[in-house]
Amino acid sequence: MTTEPLTPLMTQRSELLAHLRQPQEYDLAVVGGGATGLGTALDAAARGFKVVLLESHDFAKGTSSRATKLVHGGVRYLAQGNISLVREALHERTTLLKNAPHLARPLAFVMPSYKLWETPFYGVGLKMYDALAGSAGLGATEFLGRMDTMRCLPTVQGDGLKGGVKYWDGQFDDARLALSLARTAALKGALLVNYCEVTQLTYADGKVNGLIAVDKEGGERFQIKARCVVNAAGVWVDALREKDGEAQGKPVKPMVAPSQGVHIVVDREFLPTDHALMVPKTTDGRVLFAVPWLGKVILGTTDSPKNQLDYEPEAMKNEVAFILGESARYLRRAPKISDVRSIWAGLRPLVKHQDDDAGNTKKISREHTVLVSKSGLVTVTGGKWTTYRAMAEDVLQHCMDAKLLPTRTGGVTVHLPVVGATTTTMREGMNDPQGLHSYGSEAPLVKSMEGANRELAPGFTEAMVRFAARFEYARTVEDVLARRVRMLFLDAKLAGSIAPRVAQILQEELGIDPQLDAFSAIAQQYATVPQP
Ligand SMILES: Cc1cc2nc3c(=O)[nH]c(=O)nc-3n(C[C@H](O)[C@H](O)[C@H](O)COP(=O)(O)OP(=O)(O)OC[C@H]3O[C@@H](n4cnc5c(N)ncnc54)[C@H](O)[C@@H]3O)c2cc1C
Repeated sequence: MTTEPLTPLMTQRSELLAHLRQPQEYDLAVVGGGATGLGTALDAAARGFKVVLLESHDFAKGTSSRATKLVHGGVRYLAQGNISLVREALHERTTLLKNAPHLARPLAFVMPSYKLWETPFYGVGLKMYDALAGSAGLGATEFLGRMDTMRCLPTVQGDGLKGGVKYWDGQFDDARLALSLARTAALKGALLVNYCEVTQLTYADGKVNGLIAVDKEGGERFQIKARCVVNAAGVWVDALREKDGEAQGKPVKPMVAPSQGVHIVVDREFLPTDHALMVPKTTDGRVLFAVPWLGKVILGTTDSPKNQLDYEPEAMKNEVAFILGESARYLRRAPKISDVRSIWAGLRPLVKHQDDDAGNTKKISREHTVLVSKSGLVTVTGGKWTTYRAMAEDVLQHCMDAKLLPTRTGGVTVHLPVVGATTTTMREGMNDPQGLHSYGSEAPLVKSMEGANRELAPGFTEAMVRFAARFEYARTVEDVLARRVRMLFLDAKLAGSIAPRVAQILQEELGIDPQLDAFSAIAQQYATVPQP
């Protein structure tokens, strides 16, 4: 594996916009800077295509910063019999761990059993998971006795505990991986601009030939020509599809059935271990995780149909009650509302099929879908973070099959380390509070920057804010505290308290209003748990 050079590309907005202004035709224009759009932009740029990507908010502002942080085959999908999805995801899991070792690592999961039949029953399923992984396996599934289960999960509910099953999956930092993909795509020649919303498609002879995008900071309007436009707007894909349908005089049916998932974050003392806890069957028949992450523990998630497509969806009382109630069944000391450090919700872009029951999103397929409209608009949605790379390959294949792009061989990202990838394989320590380790090979650069010795919070230095502004496309306090470092997701009150200082540093670096008030309102939302 090669190490990225210690001279990252600057992400100066005036220069990015100057490039957007230049009259030229791109091969590919991507709408949306989440996992799907960024993966597509990177794959295309790595194949030598001329690529532009527009994101209406910040990279990973949507669903891609709100995952459970698992790089997984999906034990649950195995139970549903979706073997091909699991096999592909297990394969992708290995690729991701290899190409982003500073942001992803293997993690042991333990499923505690309280009934004698549970250990063999789940154990056999997990042995199948190992078999499907084959050489991509991260470690063999083990049957644990009661004492070993308690050693792995020191705070697990001991009453009635019979034993457990330990298996391996992966864990990652979703938003930082998104940024790393954006920066890797930029190194490969793609132009990526955040806070630039695609408002319209343009047509020639009934075929999409580009789009109109608006800079959300300055209001400037850009007309961008592209041979192929990919709509990777997550749960928001239907808005652009509807515009495309109107242009064709043919209304389209929505393809997304959004489903909300909530996570609650508590201190590590509730699960002080390097193992995650997996509940195979909650009272509503789903799985629930308690996962150690960056010095805290994430509890979640839920699966509730949702029609409103907010950028900051709010957790519902019943979701909070569900997570706390299930946690209380499995942890000796149950977290209470006053223990919650942060609460956040995300919207899964599940793909609807004709016979899907919209009231039950648990059953809807987790696979992705690519559609090419009559006018040539390529829409991709669904899937999961773990499979973003395979999805990108599929999108490009569709573009080439539809003759929107010339054929160029794929597979180019299989061995492509992302920005920051270190030469050491599979880093340990994602349990440590966030610090320089998240920067991988760029850590020495961050350490050498102004403010490296001035801590704003444990492990979080002034230099990280400057690095975010200069090299990581950050524009606002939220960009820094939610996605360049993950403090909003880990401890919303702490994030709110250091926000004014972050705003000052950003103001110095960028000379713009870094939106402190807007961030304070969001931090308040993440710190406020709806009372069940
Ligand atoms: C609760 C929850 C837990 C999950 N956990 C996991 C997990 O542990 N592991 C896993 O592999 N997967 C997980 N997933 C799934 C995974 O997070 C998603 O599949 C993935 O993030 C979707 O990425 P996306 O790029 O399609 O959508 P998004 O990340 O939402 O990106 C779409 C982007 O398009 C932008 N956009 C919208 N309209 C426009 C426009 N007009 N112009 C420009 N930009 C626009 C949006 O701002 C947004 O940033 C989870 C999902 C949820 C909800």
